[in-house]
Amino acid sequence: MALSPSKLIKLGSSFDGFCLKCRQVSKWLPGSLTTLLNMDSLRARQAGDPILRAEAETVDITTIHSPEFKGMVERMFKVMRRAKGHGIAAPQIGVGLRVFAIEFTGQHIKTLKDKGLSDKDIKRMGIALVPPRVFINPELRIIDSTLLAFREACLSVEGFSAVVPRAKEIEITALDREARPVTWRTSGWPARIVQHEVDHLKGNLYIDCMLYKSFMKNDWRDYTRK
Ligand SMILES: [Zn+2]
Repeated sequence: MALSPSKLIKLGSSFDGFCLKCRQVSKWLPGSLTTLLNMDSLRARQAGDPILRAEAETVDITTIHSPEFKGMVERMFKVMRRAKGHGIAAPQIGVGLRVFAIEFTGQHIKTLKDKGLSDKDIKRMGIALVPPRVFINPELRIIDSTLLAFREACLSVEGFSAVVPRAKEIEITALDREARPVTWRTSGWPARIVQHEVDHLKGNLYIDCMLYKSFMKNDWRDYTRK
């Protein structure tokens, strides 16, 4: 059962920083999502697309149980998994809503190890498995502001990566895909993914806060060979 807006506002009063009234509630109705999902591809939108630079809108919670909203979430997972990403925000599939998804699997760890990361590196980065999770209308709180700097990439800046400083530990308050309120405190790599995705909802990309000189094309070495 969907929570009514009035119930959510009451719940929201107990959440730190959760303010439904101060944000514009979505004009994205299920019908417009259908049109978009029918025409869009399974590729993430790329830097330069204005939707990646706009502030996403708060989801009207009465739409969360609609088939169209569920279709949008499925599309997000499809695009993320196809690109082997760790997280994705709705604007990356062309929908300006405050929704993101995250997933970190054993296959992701294997891929990192194949690229040369050691168990020690993985521990240092705070990498941990995360089952598929969806966060709707998220609010982020920094718990430990110690900055950890690691290399990250983005499905919307395909082929590049850079070192980005991020807070060590965060807490996120949101609704899950069943419209239930959730609070998740996490650190290390999952905290990094969450901060990256929440940035997307504000129209920010990692290139805005990266250590600029670390920016690189991932296959730059290929250009040094004849
Ligand atoms: Zn991204």
